[in-house]
Amino acid sequence: MLVVMKQNASEEEIGRVVDQIQAMGYDARPIPGLQRTAVGLIGNDGRVDSARLEGLPGVLEVISVSHPYKQVSREWKEEDTIVTLSNGTRIGGSEIAVMAGPCAVESRGQILETAHLLQEMGATILRAGAFKPRSSPYSFQGLGIEGLRYLAEAREATGMAVVTEALDAEGVKAVAEYADIVQIGARSMQNYALLRSAGQCGKPVLLKRGMSATIKELLLSAEYLLAEGNGEVILCERGVRSFDTHTRNLLDLTAIPVVKSLSHLPIIADPSHGTGIRAKVTPMARAAVAAGADGLMIEVHPRPEEALSDGAQSLYPEQFADLMGQIRVIARAIDRDFVPSLHGVAPAVTAS
Ligand code: PEP
Ligand code: MN
Repeated sequence: MLVVMKQNASEEEIGRVVDQIQAMGYDARPIPGLQRTAVGLIGNDGRVDSARLEGLPGVLEVISVSHPYKQVSREWKEEDTIVTLSNGTRIGGSEIAVMAGPCAVESRGQILETAHLLQEMGATILRAGAFKPRSSPYSFQGLGIEGLRYLAEAREATGMAVVTEALDAEGVKAVAEYADIVQIGARSMQNYALLRSAGQCGKPVLLKRGMSATIKELLLSAEYLLAEGNGEVILCERGVRSFDTHTRNLLDLTAIPVVKSLSHLPIIADPSHGTGIRAKVTPMARAAVAAGADGLMIEVHPRPEEALSDGAQSLYPEQFADLMGQIRVIARAIDRDFVPSLHGVAPAVTAS
């Protein structure tokens, strides 16, 4: 439930609404907007008497949010959420943010080499798993904390922000300590205990859509993060299971405009896991940006044939450089900006 205040409502009037909601036994969350403030009532169990709020001074109207996800919805917050990282990268604004890197941190040398290459090519966020969720328990599981340390070193060396996955509550703590964004992978999207700890970790969270999850389920999982007080959530479409065997997954591009209409949260696309095939990554990355994605997550490896995981879907660095040039053109065509390289190697192109 949302209590929308009048445009000229005073701080005292907003405070009275907050007090009243708390007196009714619920949590209150003021949401300042460009036009006016709203106060969200958290935890509506269907027994809230809206009349006790409607009559308070300064209240314009009381709206009941129609979706099962509340704080994630556009009804709750009309303006787009923008997540700003410490290196200045913004996700959810007019810019297209690019996260790139190998599937996994394989060694110190590999991640430093890749980070330098990608930073030169204009990526501002480095991706690589230190804790890998592998289908087989016998496959490479990642370097763990050692991998996180190498990622932190790569950040120091390049100025790139770091996104990496956490598989459990303990991992969330470690990842939040070393990285800029905590990634919750597709296989963990409905691990509600993990979502709760990610919601409390104090860092932005990248939430990937489960491979068999509906958009509604994705948004409900995001609601867990917001319910814990973490509003810095980035959604990610990474492909869903389909009946066709030509690709590993079916990248659901429709999810991008659908999520944009239902939620204020940013959504990026991962065409690497979304297709599973190197040759399909670039066309689908272009399409995702054209469809309105706020960013991309792309797997790139300096020598994909030597990769310990997902080599077949990892771009060669030159392919990634080409893709960056193409995204710049597409971004301009749809009135979006392109995040420049941190060191100005690739100048920003702003739509005029
Ligand atoms: C990843 O991005 O490293 C990953 C494992 O992806 P997903 O969770 O989408 O399979
Ligand atoms: Mn991978």
